[in-house]
Amino acid sequence: MRDSQLLKLRAGLREVLRTNAFWRERLHDVRGWDDFDRLPMTTKADLLADQDMHPPFGSNLTYPLERYVRLHQTSGSSGDHPLRWLDTAESWEWWERIWAEHVYGAAGVTSSDRIFFAFSFGPFVGFWSAFGGAQRLGAMCISGGAMTSEQRARSILDLDATVLMCTPTYALRLADVGRSLGLDLSASSVRVTLHAGEPGASIPSTRSAIEAAWSAVAFDHTGMTELGPTGVSCAARDGVHLIESEFIFEVAADGELIATNLGRWGMPLIRYRTGDRVVLSPEACSCGSPFMKVLGGIQGRVDDMFTVRGVNLFPSQVEDIVRRHPEVVEFVIEHRRERQMDEVTVLVETSVEDFSVDGLEGELRAALGVRLGCAVVPVGTLPRSEMKARRVLRIG
Ligand SMILES: [Zn+2]
Repeated sequence: MRDSQLLKLRAGLREVLRTNAFWRERLHDVRGWDDFDRLPMTTKADLLADQDMHPPFGSNLTYPLERYVRLHQTSGSSGDHPLRWLDTAESWEWWERIWAEHVYGAAGVTSSDRIFFAFSFGPFVGFWSAFGGAQRLGAMCISGGAMTSEQRARSILDLDATVLMCTPTYALRLADVGRSLGLDLSASSVRVTLHAGEPGASIPSTRSAIEAAWSAVAFDHTGMTELGPTGVSCAARDGVHLIESEFIFEVAADGELIATNLGRWGMPLIRYRTGDRVVLSPEACSCGSPFMKVLGGIQGRVDDMFTVRGVNLFPSQVEDIVRRHPEVVEFVIEHRRERQMDEVTVLVETSVEDFSVDGLEGELRAALGVRLGCAVVPVGTLPRSEMKARRVLRIG
């Protein structure tokens, strides 16, 4: 694996070092792994600053603009402006192949499946790469763009879709909408649900809730606009394998995942600090995958971590407890700084009127070792997001 990674990197870097202005001034030639280890790290802030300085696409361009066939961009949800990313026909092919071979492959999705994409098909790359990869696989691809949840639920039933693609939160909401309309989605033909955007499908209680609502097996997938599709969950169900045939992965001392892509040479990323925290499994996986596995999927974004009484927590740890209560339809972690103290309240929207937060508070305290207050808020007051729910709301 390491030899083949080095070969791919060296072959790709040759042209990048000649023509790509962004990387030319940062990188040196790589002959062996010790050269690689001396390459600088790159952050999202570096990429945003470069696009500010060289609008609209920045200077990370290996080829003339005519070679690029697709533009996608991030949501800019964390207060940054969107990051734009260009693909050539070759790099788009790379995306689709990884989806077909690795992402759908790991979930057991085949050309006989009918895949329903509960996405808006806006500028986010995940919608289009998932769709293109499914077409390459030979499956029947059904767009759920510009549909209400009711229309999506009815389409899934009418068309006998066998695979559902959406965020974990939306899988739960769609089942809930179905229930309120008298449509039983657990009786649909959907046998696999495939999720990204949030870690939910790797969080045991969220995954169980999705699997119960749909009578299906739920899989996680990780990826980033600026990197590509990076990981998939497997039959062992306790983590996400990182696709090492297409990326070089490193894990920093603080657990941050660092990635280098090996097939997107028109706009490549070398030693990119993803901002995601991971824990590597020390053992080979029982599924037989040759790829390293991060336990429990991505634990969270470095910038989503919050502190209560000196204890560092990720939203996914709270989610694992909250999702044990099927009455909770949406939740947010409100984090306030008051008199130099971190005060955290978990706000929940519930499907029942008489939900008592005492049980939930007790479970959170037992599992996390600190007290988090909980409060019920009226239905519809918490923010809904199509791509990834923002779980931590910071005030003050
Ligand atoms: Zn595995």
